[in-house]
Amino acid sequence: MLRIQALTKTYKNGEAALKGVSLGVEAGEIIGLIGPSGAGKSTLIRCVNRLIEPSSGRVQLGEVELTGLSGGALRRERRRIGMIFQEYALIERLTVMENVLAGRLGYTGFWNSWFRRFAAQDVQRAIALLERVGLIDHIDKRADALSGGQRQRVGIARALIQQPELLLVDEPTASLDPKTSRSVMRLLTELCIENRLAAIVNIHDVVLAQAFLPRIVGLNAGIVVYDGPASGLTAEV
Ligand code: ADP
Ligand code: ADP
Repeated sequence: MLRIQALTKTYKNGEAALKGVSLGVEAGEIIGLIGPSGAGKSTLIRCVNRLIEPSSGRVQLGEVELTGLSGGALRRERRRIGMIFQEYALIERLTVMENVLAGRLGYTGFWNSWFRRFAAQDVQRAIALLERVGLIDHIDKRADALSGGQRQRVGIARALIQQPELLLVDEPTASLDPKTSRSVMRLLTELCIENRLAAIVNIHDVVLAQAFLPRIVGLNAGIVVYDGPASGLTAEV
């Protein structure tokens, strides 16, 4: 599904954040990306959808090479990729339902294209997703009235409404307490399996990663230092 080959990123200040990363992720497979702060985890997931421009290497999603695209073609392929963020990135004064529907529009042209542009099918899908993530009773609440766990569930539903094939998940539990973190990780892993999504979860909590993610990729100083089962992970990685 996703194939990353010999990916490098050197920032303008000379910082080599990725030094030749190769990685494959299959449909229905959810992998945990771990490593110390500064290892290159967030650079890596942002290079996949080209929020950050890689310096060299290839990113292939299914049959399409993303690293060869620009403009409209790139925007079209990006719709196959959902993103979930640590700080949720919700629009505070919109409701839960509106935030989920916002996932259908991307982030451009949002304000002046309000409900008119949503097909009945999108509204139905949003309702089904909110049911699935346990927020159906909060559908009309404003985002700023929700708890952290509820906010992340909205973030998950928003990413899924575009029916992506790949999910990029950046520190989804870093702002949550341990109990909420586990329930969010459980929901994420179930949804990936149900929808046969490939997913990369950037996660600094190794214990949480091992509890929920069967395959772990360890990154250190821009290099893959481990790629294997969570059970095989040792203290040195
Ligand atoms: P690029 O090569 O991707 O264009 P830049 O060097 O232009 O990246 O930096 C992009 C932004 O990231 C700038 O706003 C800069 O202040 C910020 N930045 C610079 N150094 C770091 C760093 N070490 N960690 C995080 N952000 C940084
Ligand atoms: P992680 O997500 O594992 O903490 P990052 O991908 O944020 O790692 O950072 C990898 C390295 O790249 C770090 O040394 C960081 O300081 C540097 N870095 C990140 N963003 C920028 C930027 N915009 N400009 C320059 N250096 C950056």
